[in-house]
Amino acid sequence: MMPDLPNAFWYQEDALYCEQAALADIAARAGTPCYVYSLRAVLERFAAYQEGLSGLPHLVCYAVKANSNLHLLAMLAKAGAGFDVVSAGELFRVIRAGGDPARVVFSGVGKTADEIEYALARGIHSFNCESDSEVALIDALAARRGVRARIAIRVNPHVEAGAHPYISTGLRQHKFGIDFSEVEDVYRRALACPNVVAEGVSCHIGSQILNPERIFEAVDRMLELVARLRGMGLPIRHLDLGGGLGVAYKPGDRTPDIREFAGWIRRKVEGADLFLMLEPGRSIVGEAGALLTRVLYRKRTPSREFIVVDAAMTDLIRPSLYQSYHEILPVRRSSRGTVLADVVGPVCESGDFLALDREMPNVLPGDLLAVCTAGAYGFVLSSNYNARPRPPEILVEGDAWRTVRVRETFEDLIRGESL
Ligand SMILES: *Cc1c(COP(=O)(O)O)cnc(C)c1O
Repeated sequence: MMPDLPNAFWYQEDALYCEQAALADIAARAGTPCYVYSLRAVLERFAAYQEGLSGLPHLVCYAVKANSNLHLLAMLAKAGAGFDVVSAGELFRVIRAGGDPARVVFSGVGKTADEIEYALARGIHSFNCESDSEVALIDALAARRGVRARIAIRVNPHVEAGAHPYISTGLRQHKFGIDFSEVEDVYRRALACPNVVAEGVSCHIGSQILNPERIFEAVDRMLELVARLRGMGLPIRHLDLGGGLGVAYKPGDRTPDIREFAGWIRRKVEGADLFLMLEPGRSIVGEAGALLTRVLYRKRTPSREFIVVDAAMTDLIRPSLYQSYHEILPVRRSSRGTVLADVVGPVCESGDFLALDREMPNVLPGDLLAVCTAGAYGFVLSSNYNARPRPPEILVEGDAWRTVRVRETFEDLIRGESL
């Protein structure tokens, strides 16, 4: 059966394309492994959020941690995106890409004083706070600077969401957010801080959510909370619902339609007199990217068949870290049939694999494969383990493409070290 293709990647005859660019040509010139992104796919998904929310005062803050490539950030900024950052480094990237700090929200459970200072100095939109002590620190640092910092409290709405324990964040046992039962007290204390304006509520219940009912449930709870807080006299003005919408990794995955999803949220929030913020990451860039890799060897042991490729867990760690599934397609389809195999990389770890026990095209050394839906949490989680230079990132626009981050060199590997 033909897998459902992420729509920017498609076969023309038997050759795999990204938009109108042949992946074999890109691999021949850029080398492998390499990441390939479709600009159109990214901008279409961002536009779908914007269209679904249109009419409602809102800001779609792209979650930078999903893919922080400077050029992609610049394109999203130009399209009108705000940004959700979880470190000062991400804020630096956004500013360098031409993003407007006034459209940036700073999330994360462990912001340091230096990071808060940096964000205050740049004049970000707001902080999503996760503890009393964080609110107190922001208050003190804002006072020293003579400014008032807008904050939202990140609430844990007790909704089960993520597909994997590591990406589920909205339950009582998680480190994220303030428990629903304590949130009013936290606001009361924030109210007493002269240099913070506690005008927002936020949540983010998890990631790779394929059933939007989970998010809708959280929306209902958050709207009830807004009403309660306003009843206490708090001037709640913005509601940030986080990110989390899932993408299709497996051929059968049914993903929520972004425009419909956003439209549903708009109707829910309309009339509540709230400025709405969303923080989508994966659903904007995930399906827009693939990792190209070349087959190095075929290898058979008494119990298994291996396809050894030149991409590894250092390039794409999701299979190793989350046992996640990525569709792997041949860049040129052949009539050589299929084989049940593990697709593994060169790194010295048994956990270094891209697929296990997978029915794969019967590829030969030299053949190219595309690891699909790798645009989110792909390159950003790459490492130099085994002294492997990180792969380049290629951006496709129609039939044109360019390198938006070059392949690392050996010199890059030792930068900053001394003898
Ligand atoms: C990771 C994260 C996001 C983005 O999540 P996606 O699943 O990629 O949409 C948004 N907000 C916060 C606070 C996050 O930690």
